Amino acid sequence: MSIRLEHVNYVYSSGTAYEKHAVKDLNITIESGEFIGIIGHTGSGKSTLTQLLNGLIKATDGHIYYNDKSIYDKKFDMRQLRGQVGLVFQYPEHQLFETSIIRDVSFGPANMGLAKDEIEKRAKMALMQVGIGEDLFEASPFELSGGQRRRAAIAGVLAMEPSYLILDEPTAGLDPKGREEILELIRWLHETRHITVLLVSHSMEDVAEYVNRIIVMNHGQIAFDGVPKEVFKNYRELEKIGLAAPQVTYVMNQLKDNGFQVETDAVTVEEA
Ligand code: ADP
Repeated sequence: MSIRLEHVNYVYSSGTAYEKHAVKDLNITIESGEFIGIIGHTGSGKSTLTQLLNGLIKATDGHIYYNDKSIYDKKFDMRQLRGQVGLVFQYPEHQLFETSIIRDVSFGPANMGLAKDEIEKRAKMALMQVGIGEDLFEASPFELSGGQRRRAAIAGVLAMEPSYLILDEPTAGLDPKGREEILELIRWLHETRHITVLLVSHSMEDVAEYVNRIIVMNHGQIAFDGVPKEVFKNYRELEKIGLAAPQVTYVMNQLKDNGFQVETDAVTVEEA
């Protein structure tokens, strides 16, 4: 199983004064089982990439293949793709709109046309997975804490039983405890539920500890793509493209703590 992007471009407001070439000639293959961090400064094209991946927006140019089938083929089942490639937007809790948590989480599977029993089973299981117990199933989203609301929103995507999970800045605006809960949940989903994860972040701290591959975006293009220790060796370039020095230092320390060999040159940065 894989998702493959070939020469993918996306232009917003084409032919107007506001035209914006948001992603340029992207070539990426995502293999099933990977845990990928996508990092880059604001406006580097991360959100556009996530929306392309689950078919929410269509590439202006280029091809995307899901399990070797072009998603732009007329015969391709886009609805199935949206279920298989779950997308958790930024601040997903803003999209909770039902009177109870369980109804909200049932929304996705209900849209897939599943039987009532199956919808209920999936919604309950998804809520349990994100650590929301039965006592809260009937609660209004407004009765939950910020971290719980975010997890409930993630459950809404998990209830569709996706093979791929894309999360756009999933820890934004949460306190340290909430952040850790979310990141541990994502790690658990990857390790035990074998979900392929794409974690979008502007923060290297978030991704460094968890992922096994990092894609760095810059001005709509891929600046680096590889295992974290290889990508972080380019710390000078990373700094230049807006990934701040303290973050680089943090990452270097993480790598050393985890037994990686860090280049002597990199240590200079740490001391600077
Ligand atoms: P990121 O997620 O890395 O912040 P985005 O994919 O949101 O980056 O944005 C990439 C570029 O496309 C930015 O220059 C942004 O201003 C522009 N852009 C994003 N969404 C729209 C839109 N709906 N209309 C016009 N331009 C957009």
